[in-house]
Amino acid sequence: MKHQFVIIGGGVHGCAAAWMLADAGEDVLLLEAAGLASGASGGFGRRGVRGNRRDLRELPLMRAAYRLWPTLADRLGHDTGYRRTGGLNLIEQETTGTRGGLVAAHAHAAAQTAQGVPTEVLDRDRVLDLEPHLGPAVRGALYCPLDGTADHTATTTAFAAAARERGAAVREHTPVTGVERSGGRVTAVTTAGGERIEVGRALLVLNNTGAPDLLRDAFGVDLPVWRVLPQALRVRPKADPPMTHLIGHDHRSLSLKPLPDGSVMVSGGWRGRWNPDLGRGEPVEANVRGNLATAAEVYAALADAELDLADASRPESCSADEIPVIDRVPGTANAFVGTGWTGHGFAIAPAVAEALAFWARTGARPDSLAPFTAARFARRP
Ligand SMILES: Cc1cc2nc3c(=O)[nH]c(=O)nc-3n(C[C@H](O)[C@H](O)[C@H](O)COP(=O)(O)OP(=O)(O)OC[C@H]3O[C@@H](n4cnc5c(N)ncnc54)[C@H](O)[C@@H]3O)c2cc1C
Repeated sequence: MKHQFVIIGGGVHGCAAAWMLADAGEDVLLLEAAGLASGASGGFGRRGVRGNRRDLRELPLMRAAYRLWPTLADRLGHDTGYRRTGGLNLIEQETTGTRGGLVAAHAHAAAQTAQGVPTEVLDRDRVLDLEPHLGPAVRGALYCPLDGTADHTATTTAFAAAARERGAAVREHTPVTGVERSGGRVTAVTTAGGERIEVGRALLVLNNTGAPDLLRDAFGVDLPVWRVLPQALRVRPKADPPMTHLIGHDHRSLSLKPLPDGSVMVSGGWRGRWNPDLGRGEPVEANVRGNLATAAEVYAALADAELDLADASRPESCSADEIPVIDRVPGTANAFVGTGWTGHGFAIAPAVAEALAFWARTGARPDSLAPFTAARFARRP
């Protein structure tokens, strides 16, 4: 069997790339070890489609993502659950470390706006106009009207369905276990079932937390990327969700998303732990309590909300400088990798796929991918 473009990983990045390539008329095979959206791109709730306080090096991709998200469901012919709710990054302190607080707000707003992420600084009264149930400590916010949320599972399966409809082969329960190379090019991949699939033009390694091991074992390339287990909670407030926007926080580990069924997704940087017996991540009780207490300090209405789900089973890859590696695999002309999303890879996925598909088809790297080289971690002479 032979395909021109072979993609490893059926999360949002692999499925989006499969769609972009198939939509351009290319011959595509996507191989997913388990089920589609069984990794970081799946699970309950929503993911933030957020430019606010994103690393500035990612903002060209975010600008492209803002362009793509509103019409994506129509182009795919399948729902993504995307809503442009607007996003607020709440500020309570005058100064927080070197990067936060009211003192830095105007600088962040100017830098973000200049990069295509329109951002306003709001004082407390204007924040309360948008979010009347906020607690007394909030003194202002960075407001990004183009931010929003989307259903990550629906988006991932929508990309896969649209890819299939454009002729891509999408195979689940087919782990890739080996990569064959010759003359600085990938020639084939092998699967756990013993199949050998020839790669015509390019291999895209988009298996997130699995990518560092695959790169090390099959290509001899080490990336400073590791696995974390983000914690996500679902709570049911006694009344309607007290917020309507995507909520982030300047100094607290907190992210809040109102969900369509009246519940609220609570997350924002808390972690679970690996359970070797279960073979997956599980929540840590102290972190669940800490995340809930933080939420209640910002929205009092969440203090007596009922916790109905705590999840830490969706591993995510993190990189040493907190932005992804999106690059040609060093030393191999026709292999590309995307990993190290560091907890914010979903929002930019349509833009990454657009850029990566262009690069893989034409050989020309789009400028928006320039900051994400593997070489930035290499030792300099
Ligand atoms: C709780 C939580 C909240 C988040 N919140 C946000 C947010 O608000 N905004 C945002 O932008 N991002 C957010 N993220 C991050 C975002 O979800 C991820 O960056 C993104 O989903 C990663 O997509 P992916 O396709 O690279 O990886 P994954 O979805 O993990 O997909 C990788 C796939 O590769 C498969 N695989 C692994 N090894 C192999 C192999 N050898 N062969 C074949 N297949 C293989 C896996 O089974 C998996 O399905 C969050 C993540 C989590 C977990």
